Amino acid sequence: MNADELSRIANRLRLDVVETVHDAGDGHPGPCMSIADIMSVLFFEEMKIDPANPKWAERDRFVLSKGHACPILYAALARKGYFPMEELKGLRSLGSFLQGHPDMKKTPGVDTVSGSLGNGVAIGTGMALGCRMQNIDNYVYVIVGDGEEEEGIIWEAAMAAAKFNLGRLIVFADCNNHQSGGRVTELSSLYPVEDKWNAFHWHVQTIDGHDITAIQNAIAEAKKVTDKPSLIACKTTKGKGIPYMEDNNAWHKRVPTDEEVEIAREALKDKM
Ligand SMILES: [Mg+2]
Repeated sequence: MNADELSRIANRLRLDVVETVHDAGDGHPGPCMSIADIMSVLFFEEMKIDPANPKWAERDRFVLSKGHACPILYAALARKGYFPMEELKGLRSLGSFLQGHPDMKKTPGVDTVSGSLGNGVAIGTGMALGCRMQNIDNYVYVIVGDGEEEEGIIWEAAMAAAKFNLGRLIVFADCNNHQSGGRVTELSSLYPVEDKWNAFHWHVQTIDGHDITAIQNAIAEAKKVTDKPSLIACKTTKGKGIPYMEDNNAWHKRVPTDEEVEIAREALKDKM
Protein backbone atom coordinates (compact mmCIF):
# COMPACT_ATOMS: atom_id res chain seq x y z
CA MET A 1 0.00 0.00 0.00
CA ASN A 2 1.35 3.46 -0.77
CA ALA A 3 1.73 6.28 1.74
CA ASP A 4 -1.37 8.12 0.55
CA GLU A 5 -3.56 5.04 0.98
CA LEU A 6 -2.21 4.43 4.48
CA SER A 7 -2.72 8.08 5.39
CA ARG A 8 -6.34 7.83 4.27
CA ILE A 9 -6.83 4.73 6.38
CA ALA A 10 -5.37 6.61 9.37
CA ASN A 11 -7.93 9.35 8.87
CA ARG A 12 -10.72 6.80 8.48
CA LEU A 13 -9.67 5.38 11.85
CA ARG A 14 -9.66 8.90 13.33
CA LEU A 15 -13.26 9.43 12.27
CA ASP A 16 -14.20 5.96 13.52
CA VAL A 17 -12.89 7.00 16.94
CA VAL A 18 -14.87 10.25 16.97
CA GLU A 19 -18.05 8.39 16.02
CA THR A 20 -17.42 5.51 18.42
CA VAL A 21 -16.76 7.73 21.44
CA HIS A 22 -19.77 9.86 20.51
CA ASP A 23 -22.04 6.81 20.27
CA ALA A 24 -20.64 5.25 23.45
CA GLY A 25 -20.88 8.47 25.40
CA ASP A 26 -17.46 7.83 26.94
CA GLY A 27 -13.82 7.30 26.01
CA HIS A 28 -10.47 8.91 25.23
CA PRO A 29 -10.43 10.37 21.69
CA GLY A 30 -7.41 12.72 21.87
CA PRO A 31 -4.79 10.04 22.64
CA CYS A 32 -6.04 7.97 19.68
CA MET A 33 -5.37 10.65 17.11
CA SER A 34 -1.64 10.98 17.72
CA ILE A 35 -1.07 7.28 16.99
CA ALA A 36 -3.45 6.92 14.01
CA ASP A 37 -0.70 6.96 11.39
CA ILE A 38 1.41 4.43 13.29
CA MET A 39 -1.64 2.18 13.69
CA SER A 40 -2.38 2.41 9.97
CA VAL A 41 1.14 1.34 8.98
CA LEU A 42 1.24 -1.48 11.53
CA PHE A 43 -2.20 -3.00 10.99
CA PHE A 44 -2.68 -2.33 7.28
CA GLU A 45 0.80 -3.04 5.99
CA GLU A 46 3.48 -4.14 8.39
CA MET A 47 2.17 -6.71 10.79
CA LYS A 48 1.95 -10.38 10.00
CA ILE A 49 -1.52 -11.09 11.36
CA ASP A 50 -4.59 -13.08 10.30
CA PRO A 51 -8.02 -11.78 11.31
CA ALA A 52 -9.46 -15.24 10.62
CA ASN A 53 -7.02 -16.74 13.11
CA PRO A 54 -6.40 -14.18 15.87
CA LYS A 55 -4.38 -16.61 18.01
CA TRP A 56 -2.09 -17.79 15.18
CA ALA A 57 1.14 -18.66 16.99
CA GLU A 58 3.42 -17.23 14.27
CA ARG A 59 1.74 -13.80 14.21
CA ASP A 60 3.42 -10.54 15.09
CA ARG A 61 2.36 -9.30 18.52
CA PHE A 62 0.98 -5.85 19.31
CA VAL A 63 0.88 -4.13 22.70
CA LEU A 64 -1.01 -0.87 23.13
CA SER A 65 0.69 0.14 26.35
CA LYS A 66 -1.31 3.39 26.46
CA GLY A 67 -4.43 1.23 26.69
CA HIS A 68 -6.84 4.13 27.11
CA ALA A 69 -6.34 4.78 23.37
CA CYS A 70 -8.16 1.50 22.65
CA PRO A 71 -10.94 3.04 20.53
CA ILE A 72 -8.46 3.27 17.67
CA LEU A 73 -7.24 -0.27 18.27
CA TYR A 74 -10.84 -1.48 18.11
CA ALA A 75 -11.46 0.54 14.94
CA ALA A 76 -8.36 -0.97 13.31
CA LEU A 77 -9.38 -4.49 14.32
CA ALA A 78 -12.91 -4.00 13.03
CA ARG A 79 -11.69 -2.60 9.71
CA LYS A 80 -9.26 -5.52 9.40
CA GLY A 81 -12.19 -7.87 9.80
CA TYR A 82 -11.69 -9.27 13.30
CA PHE A 83 -15.30 -8.39 14.12
CA PRO A 84 -18.17 -6.39 12.53
CA MET A 85 -17.98 -2.58 12.52
CA GLU A 86 -21.36 -2.41 14.32
CA GLU A 87 -19.66 -3.80 17.43
CA LEU A 88 -17.82 -0.48 17.85
CA LYS A 89 -21.09 1.00 19.09
CA GLY A 90 -20.78 -1.22 22.16
CA LEU A 91 -17.61 0.48 23.40
CA ARG A 92 -17.60 0.60 27.20
CA SER A 93 -21.08 -0.99 27.42
CA LEU A 94 -21.93 -3.70 29.91
CA GLY A 95 -21.69 -7.05 28.13
CA SER A 96 -19.71 -5.72 25.15
CA PHE A 97 -16.34 -7.28 24.37
CA LEU A 98 -14.98 -3.77 23.73
CA GLN A 99 -14.09 -2.65 27.21
CA GLY A 100 -12.74 0.76 28.22
CA HIS A 101 -9.25 -0.73 28.21
CA PRO A 102 -8.05 -3.67 26.08
CA ASP A 103 -8.84 -7.18 27.32
CA MET A 104 -7.17 -10.10 25.54
CA LYS A 105 -9.73 -12.53 26.97
CA LYS A 106 -12.67 -10.64 25.48
CA THR A 107 -11.59 -9.05 22.21
CA PRO A 108 -10.40 -10.95 19.13
CA GLY A 109 -7.05 -9.56 17.95
CA VAL A 110 -6.03 -8.07 21.29
CA ASP A 111 -2.78 -9.68 22.43
CA THR A 112 -2.65 -8.40 26.00
CA VAL A 113 -4.53 -6.45 28.61
CA SER A 114 -3.28 -2.91 29.11
CA GLY A 115 -4.32 0.33 30.63
CA SER A 116 -2.41 0.18 33.88
CA LEU A 117 0.22 2.52 32.48
CA GLY A 118 3.85 1.56 32.11
CA ASN A 119 3.49 -2.18 31.72
CA GLY A 120 3.54 -2.47 27.94
CA VAL A 121 7.27 -2.46 27.36
CA ALA A 122 7.71 -5.18 29.99
CA ILE A 123 4.91 -7.23 28.43
CA GLY A 124 6.46 -6.78 24.98
CA THR A 125 9.84 -7.79 26.37
CA GLY A 126 8.35 -10.99 27.73
CA MET A 127 6.58 -11.69 24.45
CA ALA A 128 9.75 -11.14 22.41
CA LEU A 129 11.74 -13.42 24.72
CA GLY A 130 9.04 -16.08 24.71
CA CYS A 131 8.67 -16.02 20.93
CA ARG A 132 12.43 -16.27 20.49
CA MET A 133 12.56 -19.28 22.82
CA GLN A 134 9.90 -20.95 20.67
CA ASN A 135 11.73 -20.05 17.44
CA ILE A 136 8.77 -18.00 16.23
CA ASP A 137 9.78 -15.85 13.28
CA ASN A 138 7.97 -12.63 14.22
CA TYR A 139 8.22 -9.11 15.64
CA VAL A 140 6.70 -7.54 18.73
CA TYR A 141 5.43 -3.96 18.41
CA VAL A 142 4.59 -1.73 21.36
CA ILE A 143 3.13 1.78 21.46
CA VAL A 144 3.95 3.63 24.66
CA GLY A 145 2.87 7.14 25.63
CA ASP A 146 5.40 9.81 26.54
CA GLY A 147 3.76 10.52 29.90
CA GLU A 148 3.75 6.87 30.85
CA GLU A 149 7.52 6.68 30.47
CA GLU A 150 7.53 8.22 33.95
CA GLU A 151 6.63 4.76 35.25
CA GLY A 152 9.64 2.94 36.71
CA ILE A 153 8.80 -0.44 35.20
CA ILE A 154 9.41 1.02 31.74
CA TRP A 155 13.09 1.32 32.59
CA GLU A 156 13.34 -2.09 34.22
CA ALA A 157 11.98 -3.51 30.97
CA ALA A 158 14.34 -1.33 28.94
CA MET A 159 17.27 -2.84 30.84
CA ALA A 160 16.03 -6.39 30.40
CA ALA A 161 15.25 -6.05 26.68
CA ALA A 162 18.75 -4.71 26.00
CA LYS A 163 20.37 -7.38 28.17
CA PHE A 164 18.59 -10.08 26.17
CA ASN A 165 19.43 -8.41 22.82
CA LEU A 166 15.79 -8.39 21.75
CA GLY A 167 16.26 -7.20 18.20
CA ARG A 168 12.69 -8.13 17.35
CA LEU A 169 11.14 -5.77 19.88
CA ILE A 170 10.17 -2.44 18.30
CA VAL A 171 8.71 0.25 20.56
CA PHE A 172 7.06 3.43 19.31
CA ALA A 173 7.09 6.30 21.81
CA ASP A 174 4.14 8.57 21.10
CA CYS A 175 5.76 11.91 21.91
CA ASN A 176 2.71 14.20 21.90
CA ASN A 177 3.94 16.12 24.97
CA HIS A 178 0.66 15.63 26.81
CA GLN A 179 -0.44 13.35 29.57
CA SER A 180 -3.66 13.27 31.53
CA GLY A 181 -2.45 15.89 34.01
CA GLY A 182 -0.88 18.37 31.59
CA ARG A 183 2.21 18.83 29.45
CA VAL A 184 4.85 16.17 29.95
CA THR A 185 7.59 18.78 29.80
CA GLU A 186 5.94 20.69 32.66
CA LEU A 187 5.43 17.63 34.89
CA SER A 188 8.11 14.95 35.34
CA SER A 189 9.65 15.55 31.94
CA LEU A 190 11.36 12.60 30.31
CA TYR A 191 12.63 14.74 27.46
CA PRO A 192 14.84 14.26 25.60
CA VAL A 193 13.56 10.68 25.64
CA GLU A 194 16.10 9.61 23.03
CA ASP A 195 19.03 10.16 25.42
CA LYS A 196 17.47 7.89 28.00
CA TRP A 197 16.75 5.01 25.63
CA ASN A 198 20.24 5.39 24.17
CA ALA A 199 21.68 5.14 27.66
CA PHE A 200 19.78 1.88 28.10
CA HIS A 201 21.54 0.54 24.97
CA TRP A 202 18.58 0.62 22.63
CA HIS A 203 18.71 1.46 18.93
CA VAL A 204 17.02 4.87 18.76
CA GLN A 205 15.46 6.85 15.93
CA THR A 206 13.42 10.06 15.89
CA ILE A 207 10.73 10.67 13.29
CA ASP A 208 7.62 12.69 12.51
CA GLY A 209 4.97 10.28 13.76
CA HIS A 210 2.45 11.56 11.22
CA ASP A 211 4.71 10.94 8.21
CA ILE A 212 3.73 7.54 6.81
CA THR A 213 6.92 7.14 4.79
CA ALA A 214 9.05 8.02 7.81
CA ILE A 215 7.22 5.39 9.88
CA GLN A 216 7.75 2.77 7.17
CA ASN A 217 11.44 3.64 6.84
CA ALA A 218 11.99 3.62 10.59
CA ILE A 219 10.53 0.12 10.87
CA ALA A 220 12.78 -1.06 8.05
CA GLU A 221 15.82 0.45 9.84
CA ALA A 222 14.79 -1.11 13.15
CA LYS A 223 14.57 -4.53 11.51
CA LYS A 224 18.17 -4.23 10.30
CA VAL A 225 19.34 -4.07 13.90
CA THR A 226 19.25 -7.63 15.14
CA ASP A 227 21.08 -7.39 18.46
CA LYS A 228 19.29 -4.46 20.13
CA PRO A 229 15.68 -3.55 20.81
CA SER A 230 14.48 -0.48 18.92
CA LEU A 231 12.86 2.70 20.12
CA ILE A 232 11.24 4.96 17.55
CA ALA A 233 10.54 8.37 19.09
CA CYS A 234 7.55 9.70 17.15
CA LYS A 235 6.95 13.42 17.32
CA THR A 236 3.17 13.68 17.27
CA THR A 237 0.26 16.00 18.00
CA LYS A 238 -2.41 14.93 20.44
CA GLY A 239 -5.78 15.16 18.69
CA LYS A 240 -4.08 15.25 15.26
CA GLY A 241 -6.49 15.64 12.36
CA ILE A 242 -9.53 16.86 14.30
CA PRO A 243 -9.34 20.68 14.33
CA TYR A 244 -10.79 21.29 17.79
CA MET A 245 -8.77 18.48 19.37
CA GLU A 246 -5.29 19.29 18.07
CA ASP A 247 -2.83 19.89 20.91
CA ASN A 248 -5.82 20.43 23.22
CA ASN A 249 -5.52 18.26 26.31
CA ALA A 250 -9.19 18.84 27.18
CA TRP A 251 -9.80 16.05 24.66
CA HIS A 252 -7.79 13.48 26.62
CA LYS A 253 -11.15 12.09 27.77
CA ARG A 254 -14.23 13.83 26.45
CA VAL A 255 -17.25 13.04 24.29
CA PRO A 256 -17.85 14.94 21.04
CA THR A 257 -21.28 16.53 20.60
CA ASP A 258 -23.39 15.90 17.49
CA GLU A 259 -22.05 19.16 16.07
CA GLU A 260 -18.45 18.25 16.84
CA VAL A 261 -18.89 14.91 15.06
CA GLU A 262 -20.08 16.84 11.99
CA ILE A 263 -17.06 19.15 12.16
CA ALA A 264 -14.77 16.11 12.25
CA ARG A 265 -16.57 14.54 9.27
CA GLU A 266 -16.19 17.75 7.32
CA ALA A 267 -12.50 18.09 8.22
CA LEU A 268 -11.67 14.54 7.10
CA LYS A 269 -14.11 13.92 4.24
CA ASP A 270 -11.58 14.54 1.45
CA LYS A 271 -8.73 12.85 3.29
CA MET A 272 -10.13 9.35 3.74
MG1 LIG B 1 1.31 11.64 25.69
